[in-house]
Amino acid sequence: MEKVRGILDQNAFSMAHIDKADARIGALVRKRLETVGPTSMLFYEEPLHIVRGERVWLFDDQGKRYLDVYNNVPSIGHCHPRVVQAVAEQMGTLNVHNRYLHEGIHRYAERLLDTLPRTLNRLVMMCTGSESNDMALRLARGWTGRQGIIVTEAAYHGNTAAVTEVSPSSYKQGTPPDHVHILPISRMSEQADPAAWFAEQVRYGIEQLEARGHGCAALLVDSIFSSDGIYADPAGFLKPAVELLQSRGGLFISDEVQPGFGRTGQGMWGFSRHGVTPDVVTMGKPMGNGFPMSGLAAREELLAVLNADVGYFNTFGGSPVAVAAGTAVLDVIAEEDLMANATRQGEYFKRQLQDIQARFEEVSDVRGAGLFLGLDLCDPTRDGAPDAQRTTALINDLKRNGVLIGGAGKSGSTLKIRPPLCIERSEADLFLDRFEQSLRTTAR
Ligand code: PMP
Repeated sequence: MEKVRGILDQNAFSMAHIDKADARIGALVRKRLETVGPTSMLFYEEPLHIVRGERVWLFDDQGKRYLDVYNNVPSIGHCHPRVVQAVAEQMGTLNVHNRYLHEGIHRYAERLLDTLPRTLNRLVMMCTGSESNDMALRLARGWTGRQGIIVTEAAYHGNTAAVTEVSPSSYKQGTPPDHVHILPISRMSEQADPAAWFAEQVRYGIEQLEARGHGCAALLVDSIFSSDGIYADPAGFLKPAVELLQSRGGLFISDEVQPGFGRTGQGMWGFSRHGVTPDVVTMGKPMGNGFPMSGLAAREELLAVLNADVGYFNTFGGSPVAVAAGTAVLDVIAEEDLMANATRQGEYFKRQLQDIQARFEEVSDVRGAGLFLGLDLCDPTRDGAPDAQRTTALINDLKRNGVLIGGAGKSGSTLKIRPPLCIERSEADLFLDRFEQSLRTTAR
């Protein structure tokens, strides 16, 4: 298998740069390594010390402000006052585990399930996207009695032992476990008929897993393929594959941790752009706008199988405070009409980025839906090969220029543009202006 640039390696700080860092930052980095240790990741050649956030802005310890087009957790805006107030009030009233009755959890579940296909009629609540994907794997395996899972080549679905196995972007060495089939989504851009190609890849995956004796329990995809480099179009390309999989008894798990809660603009969920009905939907990150909460929606009978086997309890999942945060997020998405804004600003971003693409030969593609866009960088002097070095240079130059952005994709050559859903036109213009400046500064 061709080496995939790990999602955790993208724009990661390396100790090799410590001596170049400002003394104040260097001291903080050392302190972190001496306490939290080697699994603690930091971004940028010189890590950033952020002390405050507001809407689309983050502020460092020197008062410098940064336009945030990276973070999709505070999806309705950093420190949204509605969420802050809801959490503070509930925290001061009651916060316990969810084995007592409370009204908030039902109200929230009803409201969220209303946004999903009717067949997805139960909502389990947890704290992280990893936990919800971990449960999704258990449901698929319990329901089908099979072990095999199909995932895309640079997917990231979380950090538990089971979920790491189906997150190829986390593998630092070795090959995928035998029960995991990897689908080479980066080849999709070369296909004349992406939907037929994707379905063919899934058919091949099912056959491979059957031949190896595992069978196929599920196709697990992030419906906007974030860490793979963002593959949104053509809308509907997942449909033939999902229908084929479901006709063979496999489950379709739509990981909505990234595209969910309105980011793609046209609806609450990324999978709806594809006209498919998942068997399981997993969600996290933007669900609580920074409050750690996640969820899994599925048919009741799938959950009954798991419950008959081991049961499930999650201490903090669906706590009164989590539900208060989640409810405030749903209120704000509706009241501030954020999905319409995601569509409007997303289309503007895309048009302007395509205009930049027409003027800079190193920009080879612009993709995405709503406020989730990917921009590929290539090296025209090397036959248009993906240019991860330039991507990293741009990420660090944009930071100096007051813009926070990240990378994605199998070769690390895609810039991921994912601002809070409340971004305004003037802020989009500021990004576009700084981006063009950084393209010139980092030109070889
Ligand atoms: N799924 C996707 C698509 C993700 O991007 C992530 C986190 N980056 C997860 C799952 C895991 O979520 P968490 O970090 O909350 O466990």
